[in-house]
Amino acid sequence: MRAANRLVAQVLEALESAVAPGVTTADLDAAAERMVRDGGAVPAFKGYRGFPATLCTSVNAQVVHGIPSPKVVLADGDIVSIDIGVKLDGFYGDSAVTVPVGVVPARTQELLKVTRESLERGIAEVKVGGRLSDVSHAVQKWVEARGFSVVREFVGHGIGEQLHEEPTIPNFGQPGRGPKLAAGMVLAIEPMVAMGRPEVKVLGDGWTAVTKDGSLAAHFEHTVAVGEDGPLILTARTVSAGVVAAAR
Ligand code: MG
Ligand code: MG
Repeated sequence: MRAANRLVAQVLEALESAVAPGVTTADLDAAAERMVRDGGAVPAFKGYRGFPATLCTSVNAQVVHGIPSPKVVLADGDIVSIDIGVKLDGFYGDSAVTVPVGVVPARTQELLKVTRESLERGIAEVKVGGRLSDVSHAVQKWVEARGFSVVREFVGHGIGEQLHEEPTIPNFGQPGRGPKLAAGMVLAIEPMVAMGRPEVKVLGDGWTAVTKDGSLAAHFEHTVAVGEDGPLILTARTVSAGVVAAAR
C-alpha cells in the first residue's frame, strides 16, 4: 500500500506543477499515464466501468469524474481537480488535489483552502478505537462553518486489493457511528465541497458530475492507514502535506 500510494503522490506532485494556462487536461492525462507505467504500475481508472483515462480532471463547476480532453484548455482563473488511482503489485493507491490555474479570486482560494483543511480535520479523526462517522462529521462541520456545502452523492471508501472497498465514507453525518477503526484499515477520504448548493448532476457523457447551480467545486483526497499511533497519510506529497493539524 505504501508503494502504490507513494507513486500516486509523486505523480500528483508532478502534475500540480504542470498545471498552467494553455495546458489541456489531455496533456495532464498523457503525462500521468507515462509516469504511472514508468513506475511499474497500471492506471486504476482506465477501463474502470468503461472510464477512458488515467485521470479524472474536473474543471470549475465539475465536481468529480471529468474526462480529460484535448479540447479542455486550462485558463487563468480556473480550478482543476486532478484525481488519480493506480494499481501496483496488487494494491491500489488513490488521491486527488484541486489546483488553481494562474491567479484565482480570493473566494476561490478560500474554497480550496477550506476543502483541504476539511480533509485534514477528517484525517485527524483516524485513530484506533475511533468511529468512522467521526471522520465524516469533522469534514462537514469544518466546511459548513465556513459557508460552503458538502456534496452528498459521492463518498470516500476503503481501499486495498480493490480500488473501492467497504466501508463507504460520507463527508457528512453525526459522530460516533459506523464501524470502529482498527489498526491496518486503509481509507480513501475525499471531501467534495461546493461554493453554492451541494446538489450535483451527471452530464450526458455518463461520468462528469457538476454542481446543479453551476457554482465552483473542489475535491481533495488522501489514502490514509489507521496506524497504532494515529493516521498514516500514504499519499502525502510533501512533509507539510503530511502534517495533520492538531488544533481543534
Ligand atoms: Mg480518487
Ligand atoms: Mg477515491
